[in-house]
Amino acid sequence: MSDSPNVDAREIEKFAQLASRWWDPTSEFKPLHQINPLRLGFIQGQVPLAGKRVLDVGCGGGLLCEAMAATGAQVTGIDMAEASLGVARLHLLESGLTVDYQQTTAEQLAAAQPASFEVVTCLEMLEHVPDPAAVVQACHDLVRPGGLVFFSTLNRNLKSYLFAIIGAEYVLGLLPKGTHDYQQFIRPSELTRWCRAAGLQPVQQTGLCYNPFTQCYRLDAQDIDVNYLLAMQREE
Ligand code: SAH
Repeated sequence: MSDSPNVDAREIEKFAQLASRWWDPTSEFKPLHQINPLRLGFIQGQVPLAGKRVLDVGCGGGLLCEAMAATGAQVTGIDMAEASLGVARLHLLESGLTVDYQQTTAEQLAAAQPASFEVVTCLEMLEHVPDPAAVVQACHDLVRPGGLVFFSTLNRNLKSYLFAIIGAEYVLGLLPKGTHDYQQFIRPSELTRWCRAAGLQPVQQTGLCYNPFTQCYRLDAQDIDVNYLLAMQREE
């Protein structure tokens, strides 16, 4: 791990510490459990996944990998936290699904297997790496020409600071304190610029909004102020 330049060891350790709770829907990962069906719906709305070779970058305990595998996709999940991959592999015994989990980075896999996936997903991960633009480039390199890449992350503005850090970590206690670093948040314009520079063109975007009163999330294409999802297409 230490010889991989674009990995923040402290971030990996933070997730590894929580690894046993990935599949507990009442744990620190509750928000990811809640948004999982919504983001799967957004992805499937752009590209039906059944039969597709799909890569999930920064897969954690495999919440999205399993949801995609359940649709009939052939899924590979990569992460740098071995403890999370261990939990992800164990959970396959319970679900009976098949996912290929590997400890590697997007950059390493892109060098070894370029253009080998029809769809690449990289959700809630870019804000945890030192050089997110390099991950964007690797995701481009991993998907075949014409294929789709999905990113989600947190926007950077006063509202996202109040919702994603003050609200989620301090007031509502949805996430452990220190989960997110505001400086690492990424504006949609920045992410889109890195995508275009890498050879990915914007296809669709939507916001993931949390209502603290109903405690529910919903997709809202008009509100990308806090958490948002982008669909990108690799140029042919
Ligand atoms: N994508 C999953 C998990 C998000 S949490 C989901 O949305 O459900 C962020 C994940 O990114 C963690 O599992 C963490 O270990 C992983 N991660 C952070 N930096 C990484 C890197 N450089 N390469 C691969 N995985 C990384």
